[in-house]
Amino acid sequence: MEEKKLDIAAFQLQDSDAEINIGDIIDEYLNEETRPKRIGSYYPSEIGMCIRRSYYSYFISKPTEPKALRIFALGNNVHEFIARALKDSDRFEVVEEEKPIKINYVDGETSFSIYGRIDDYVVSKGNTKKVIIEAKSTSDVDKITVPEDKHVMQIMLYLAAEKTDYGIIVYADKKNLQIKQFKVEYNESVYNKVIQRFKDLDYHLKKKKLPPAEYYFDNKKVWECKYCPYYNECMQAIANGD
Ligand code: SF4
Repeated sequence: MEEKKLDIAAFQLQDSDAEINIGDIIDEYLNEETRPKRIGSYYPSEIGMCIRRSYYSYFISKPTEPKALRIFALGNNVHEFIARALKDSDRFEVVEEEKPIKINYVDGETSFSIYGRIDDYVVSKGNTKKVIIEAKSTSDVDKITVPEDKHVMQIMLYLAAEKTDYGIIVYADKKNLQIKQFKVEYNESVYNKVIQRFKDLDYHLKKKKLPPAEYYFDNKKVWECKYCPYYNECMQAIANGD
């Protein structure tokens, strides 16, 4: 019987030959609606970043680059997977995903609100422990030896807003789901420092006063400037003496 050979080369069309471009479809799907931010409403995820960058984001809206949106989408997949595993486990009485929190801050000088969402809030069987889980995806979990300051700041706000026993920052490697986790307990002094950062941001926003170029003058963090969407504006301001 004559052997029929599959002509593989005939199937190797370049993506430019295809009528359906999956890359474009992904980018259309991820295309986010950017809502203007409101001065007086702040978010736990922004307070660990450069304060000048946060400040700019309230006045100059910039769409997130498609490349960054794809990376966020992969990170969300990891978070969703962890949430599914928690829900499937019989170790917990309660598993709540995306639990909203709100902190109202008022003093003699100002007032503002902080809005956030806890990735996962779990209560163990028998109601023995209430725990907040903050999941972060990373490209190489082996490089992580301590939790990042910005992630500790974020979970500290959740620990202040929701009465729990402790929090866990979980780093999940996007390549292989290898996990590293760090236990974080509520600490009043760290919480006060985080609130002070919000007060600084709030002060500058309400006075329309550009805050210092925090990361540019920090040897350990200056590398992040090259990924900052406000790099050009910031460099111009520094050149003008701000
Ligand atoms: S370029 Fe650097 S210092 Fe300037 S706003 Fe961005 S992160 Fe901050």
